[in-house]
Amino acid sequence: MAASAPYSLVIQHAAQVLTLAGGPTGRPLAGPDLGRWRIIENGYVACVGDTIAAVGPMAELDAARLTPATRTLDASGRVVLPGLVECHTHLVFGGNRAHEFERKLRGESYLDILASGGGILSTVLATRAASGGELLANALQHLEGFRRYGVTTVEAKSGYGLDRDTELRLVRVAAEAGRCQPVRVVPTFLGAHVVPPEFKAAGPAAYADFLLREVLPELRGEAEFVDIFCEEGAFPLNVARRYLEQARALGFGLKIHAEQLHDLGGCEMAAGLGAISVDHCDYLTPAAAGRIAQQTQGRTVAVLLPLVPLFLRQETYAPGRAFIDAGLPVAVSTDFNPGSCPSKNLWLALSVACLKMGLTPTEAVAAATLNAAWAINRAADCGSLEPGKRADVLVLNLGSVAEIPYWLGENPVRDVVIGGALQ
Ligand SMILES: [Zn+2]
Repeated sequence: MAASAPYSLVIQHAAQVLTLAGGPTGRPLAGPDLGRWRIIENGYVACVGDTIAAVGPMAELDAARLTPATRTLDASGRVVLPGLVECHTHLVFGGNRAHEFERKLRGESYLDILASGGGILSTVLATRAASGGELLANALQHLEGFRRYGVTTVEAKSGYGLDRDTELRLVRVAAEAGRCQPVRVVPTFLGAHVVPPEFKAAGPAAYADFLLREVLPELRGEAEFVDIFCEEGAFPLNVARRYLEQARALGFGLKIHAEQLHDLGGCEMAAGLGAISVDHCDYLTPAAAGRIAQQTQGRTVAVLLPLVPLFLRQETYAPGRAFIDAGLPVAVSTDFNPGSCPSKNLWLALSVACLKMGLTPTEAVAAATLNAAWAINRAADCGSLEPGKRADVLVLNLGSVAEIPYWLGENPVRDVVIGGALQ
């Protein structure tokens, strides 16, 4: 892009431009920096093609780069911010679990339902039975829903196949869905979600070995991250450690579902192996969070999923405030999936993160944009409004950042721009 190329799109007169810029570079926002980035009053964002060219106060808008071909978007009285980044979803699956909702309301726990063959395993049956075309159609429908909420990048985990062919299909369907529409999709392999019925007798270690031997080598270059559910009823700590070590040796980035229902030490273990994120963390202690922050020099992101304890009717939420105060970078995501969070409303997740985890509005916004981008290794090109990044920009029907978590459950999105194109 020439330094003086005419602007193709200018979003102007915004009451507030939430840039997410101005913090330390080269690592996620942590500690006081999480809520202390630059907000421009009466500002603009200018794009050239698919890239952000300039961001600043209206007084500094370079009129010489406006031409009759420049499209302008008036954002008077509105908030402008980067497209949201969903760094933890289970996008591709068959069926749904509405039939388990009443069981949950009657008091059956997540692990009770899983142990009785329901939960993840019932989605596995529906997913194995679905054709590639059906799975793709479902994924595209969900991506359309995410886009309406202003989500412009989505991480998508496999994990409802639990056999070689279906797991490969899920990763490939996610990638294909990303190519079919504008929201960018980042596939993660979560074959180690739970132990499938076929390996019930052989156990978690044997199933993990099967994945390492038969499936992971096929996914090099297709799935960027490998994830595992370290929990009672899923994979114990020693199996998870060995699995992640081997996945790292094969060249994958690492993620973990850990400390969701019990404190097994999965987050610290994975962070010690260089995991890019540790996810759930409802039972992670502030002391362990501090050790992770120190050990990883603030590079591992704790992904908080506040809609999950809400939907599972649990009282324990990750102590996000204490994590931030301990210097651990945090992100917020929905964990969209058919069992523990059938919601794509990341705005609602931000509100619950404030209400139940102690985040401030500016911290919550950073957690669902720039830090979420860090959690999937995309901070170089999304998550903030800075020249050179992909032009993923939202205009909200709100006047200030303080309103974002306040209008509980609403979708505040007026306009969605992805790669410089108004959707
Ligand atoms: Zn998950």
